[in-house]
Amino acid sequence: MKAKVTKDCMGDRLCNNLCPEVFEYDEDELKSKVKFDEIPGEYKDLVRQAAEECGAHAIEIEED
Ligand code: SF4
Repeated sequence: MKAKVTKDCMGDRLCNNLCPEVFEYDEDELKSKVKFDEIPGEYKDLVRQAAEECGAHAIEIEED
């Protein structure tokens, strides 16, 4: 699984709070970003949840 945050991110950091192991806030770009190229198996469900809950629909997932 791959995931990325698009430019639509509004920076509310909801995903960072939900799964700080995967999402971090980029202070320069003022949006969140994904730390991994490939999402580790143990975080996949949380990443899917983050994508569903993101109010800006800014988390794009590419399933394997
Ligand atoms: S939940 Fe969505 S809008 Fe909020 S910081 Fe994460 S990607 Fe950005």
